[in-house]
Amino acid sequence: MHFTRLRLNGFKSFVDPTDLVIHDGLTGVVGPNGCGKSNLLEALRWVMGENRPTAMRGDGMEDVIFAGAARRGARAYAEVSLSIDNGDRLAPAGFNDSDALDIARRITRDAGSAYRINGKEVRARDVQMLFADASTGAHSPALVRQGQISELINAKPRSRRRILEEAAGISGLYQRRHEAELK
Ligand code: ATP
Ligand code: MG
Repeated sequence: MHFTRLRLNGFKSFVDPTDLVIHDGLTGVVGPNGCGKSNLLEALRWVMGENRPTAMRGDGMEDVIFAGAARRGARAYAEVSLSIDNGDRLAPAGFNDSDALDIARRITRDAGSAYRINGKEVRARDVQMLFADASTGAHSPALVRQGQISELINAKPRSRRRILEEAAGISGLYQRRHEAELK
């Protein structure tokens, strides 16, 4: 499984539809301060089901919608979609019947988020579980935020354990156990 495309429309500073092809190997994003590099990583995290506005550097989730600029009005919605090559058929059970997966999330002001996998409407939890089982996802240690390294150095042992669990690929099990305990 690897990411092949990230499309943004009305997400944060990406007001116009933007289509990024992600090639195999290492991808670097360079540009001046404020050009949107961190916004791109946040888009990736967001489409994988991130639900904490603080992780998006906002007060509410609607803050990810393009808020308007000098000559551009605010947008009514934001959409991000992520394409995944599943040629190796390593997607978790239930998602593994096609060579490509297309995950989309759209947020509309006052109407919240809606998710689709290959065009079919799904719940946030389905998307979160897909990525949790694939050991990636919104909370994955593979995505390192600006400032996160120093946070990690100062972290409590319990938070460090969560990071090891992610790396070991058992966080999907962890989430399910947590839900079972709540029931
Ligand atoms: P640095 O190199 O300083 O880390 P960066 O390339 O990571 O910069 P970002 O933090 O991704 O930059 O982008 C910040 C820009 O995104 C700011 O100009 C900010 O105004 C803009 N921005 C953030 N949210 C929105 C929004 N909802 N609507 C419009 N613009 C937004
Ligand atoms: Mg940045």
